[in-house]
Amino acid sequence: MICAAGVAPNTVFLAGSGVAVERGIRVDAGMRTSVADIYAAGDVTEAPGFHSGQPELNAIQPNAVDQARVAAHNMAGGTAVSGGSLAINVLDTLGLISTSFGQWQGVGKEQGGASVELVDDAKYRYLSLQFRGDVLIGATSIGWTDHVGALRGLVQTQAPLGEWKARLLADPTGFMAAYLATAQKAA
Ligand SMILES: Cc1cc2nc3c(=O)[nH]c(=O)nc-3n(C[C@H](O)[C@H](O)[C@H](O)COP(=O)(O)OP(=O)(O)OC[C@H]3O[C@@H](n4cnc5c(N)ncnc54)[C@H](O)[C@@H]3O)c2cc1C
Repeated sequence: MICAAGVAPNTVFLAGSGVAVERGIRVDAGMRTSVADIYAAGDVTEAPGFHSGQPELNAIQPNAVDQARVAAHNMAGGTAVSGGSLAINVLDTLGLISTSFGQWQGVGKEQGGASVELVDDAKYRYLSLQFRGDVLIGATSIGWTDHVGALRGLVQTQAPLGEWKARLLADPTGFMAAYLATAQKAA
């Protein structure tokens, strides 16, 4: 059995400080809390999400590093803005690698959503790609290890896929080629 409890920031010490806390410490895209000159970054924060722009708790190392960079810059008088915290999960379950990136659950057709799903029973593999317009907004994979970081690259660069969207809908396994053809140019 697998139990996933999630992440619960310990913010008890902030009681009475005036720093706004919901599920985590509320910060804006510059990592400013609700109290002037107090900044927060990392797992303890609820920062604007990459896609939603709304407060999200995405407690992973890349977000913490980005937020720390932004907070440090702004504490020194800069005007850095975070691109938003992105949901990323990579899990090794007894050797079976599963991943999810961004809006893996997709969006409705009324928002320009489209998706493709591949179930490869013979090789215990699964792949799901989610699009909004011609941009990859999310992905889920099981049993894929090669080049799986390209899925994150496509989501995070928001590279317009153009003709590659139709190719991926026909064959989602071509995500690395799509990344090289589109996101690397945009990066
Ligand atoms: C088991 C596990 C596996 C993970 N795997 C991954 C992974 O594969 N990929 C990934 O991207 N992320 C992973 N993470 C998440 C990653 O570790 C965190 O996102 C990252 O460490 C967050 O950095 P942080 O500086 O915000 O917090 P932390 O690294 O938790 O640092 C906070 C520090 O503050 C200290 N502290 C707490 N309270 C106080 C206080 N009152 N006064 C002074 N110091 C205090 C703590 O002791 C700690 O040293 C994993 C986390 C766990 C627990």
